[in-house]
Amino acid sequence: MTTIPVLQNYVGGRWVPSDSPSYEIVPNPATGEPIARVPLSTRSDLHAAVEAARSSFTAWKETPVPKRARILFKYQQLLVDHWEELARLITQENGKSYTEAYGEVQRGIECVEFAAGSPTLMMGSQLPDIATGIESGMYRYPLGVVAGISPFNFPMMVPCWMFPLAIACGNTFILKPSERTPLLANRLAELFTEAGLPDGVLNIVHGSKEIVNGMIEDPDIQAISFVGSQPVAEYVYKSSAAHGKRVQALAGAKNHSIVLPDADLELTVSNILGAAFGSAGERCMACSVVVAVGDIADTLVNKLQETASRMKIGNGLEPDVFLGPVIRSSHKDRTIDYIEAGIREGASMVVDGRDVAAAQGSGFFVGPTIFDGVQTDMKIWQDEIFAPVLSIVRASSLKEAIEIANRSEFANGACLYTDSAKAIRQFREQIDAGMLGINVGVPAPMAFFPFSGFKKSFYGDLHANGRDGVEFYTRKKMVTSRY
Ligand code: NAD
Repeated sequence: MTTIPVLQNYVGGRWVPSDSPSYEIVPNPATGEPIARVPLSTRSDLHAAVEAARSSFTAWKETPVPKRARILFKYQQLLVDHWEELARLITQENGKSYTEAYGEVQRGIECVEFAAGSPTLMMGSQLPDIATGIESGMYRYPLGVVAGISPFNFPMMVPCWMFPLAIACGNTFILKPSERTPLLANRLAELFTEAGLPDGVLNIVHGSKEIVNGMIEDPDIQAISFVGSQPVAEYVYKSSAAHGKRVQALAGAKNHSIVLPDADLELTVSNILGAAFGSAGERCMACSVVVAVGDIADTLVNKLQETASRMKIGNGLEPDVFLGPVIRSSHKDRTIDYIEAGIREGASMVVDGRDVAAAQGSGFFVGPTIFDGVQTDMKIWQDEIFAPVLSIVRASSLKEAIEIANRSEFANGACLYTDSAKAIRQFREQIDAGMLGINVGVPAPMAFFPFSGFKKSFYGDLHANGRDGVEFYTRKKMVTSRY
């Protein structure tokens, strides 16, 4: 084990070992083999990063916005140049297929492209005549030191929702990546430095909840962006607010896809399978419930079963693999517990992923699993399983389907498959979710739009990305002048 490298923190432009003797093993989920050790850093490691970020803030804030933007342009080019390398690293540490990882790098790059528009995004506004001879203007400024805490499922895209825009707005940043997928963050920091980012503007501190609590309590950290599971999001939101911080906390999901009888069956099946089983269902925008309306249900279930059973499962670096492993062996066990709960609760098994799980050696594999006849009092409908498990609920009308989806405590995304404009309008007006798809499987908004849901899927006010992101990472001064 001592030959497995221990990751270092990135503080003030230098790689530094953590103070901590404790670490976690990071395995490749497809093989179970360890690829790194991640330190569970201490408060003193965090303190050093806060000091570095604090002392770099003034110079960075005073760096003209177009100059900051030029560094982001260079960063974007470096990320493009290293696209394949980054995608491979994502597959190695997360398990998702190379194609999915390649797409994730694109989503990260798009965030950098959006942030490079900071000269426009940072603009204020003026009114030359609020009264005779008096004008008023709004000026936008960074907050100071900002922290980001990210989940395991998007090691590139989610951190890229946070630090490029925060930094483009003139803040300095401390990222705590997920301890389950910590490797990519170090590469992101190296490439940003290569693009010309001054030391101390982006810092990385590895670890788990001790660092999160340290960030929440540190008076020099002005704002926290969090993405992760619902209980932790709620905790981070409440405790950061109690410490006087600005906070946005994006949380879990249980996304419903409603299929109407007039849906294009081929397109619907391929989109649903991609959304349910892509990234092993470990996506906050995964489709975890299908609500089949009326007489399309039997045909839809048969087609989903037939196609899911042919899905190629394996190491995401192998060609044509669609479904990779889940993140950890404990997550595989938890998923199998949910599958068994579904059977106990009386749902009917259409495709059983447990056999595949047994056949795949030391990787953490669970095959695509589909249940039909799921009811809303079942755990498999209520909980976010975050794995390749799809529930099918049957409804007799769009109204009933929307009511079922709206009963979930989560409200991140929802999709509708139909050709009917009237149905699309009804869905848009009545569904209670933040990100909607019409004949689209994963309606994740692009970087220039806000990303987030409602209810227990989001805690805060300003969403990630887009103009909401700019608002979140800046504060405004109003100046009223008489001449
Ligand atoms: P997680 O909550 O386990 O971890 C997220 C972060 O919180 C990690 O950095 C982790 O170190 C930290 N953390 C974990 N437990 C903590 C605790 N007790 N106290 C303080 N910090 C703690 O989430 P995960 O399993 O890494 O990610 C999957 C979850 O993230 C899913 O629920 C998924 O829906 C959600 N997610 C949501 C979005 C969104 O946009 N809404 C996007 C991606 C992922």
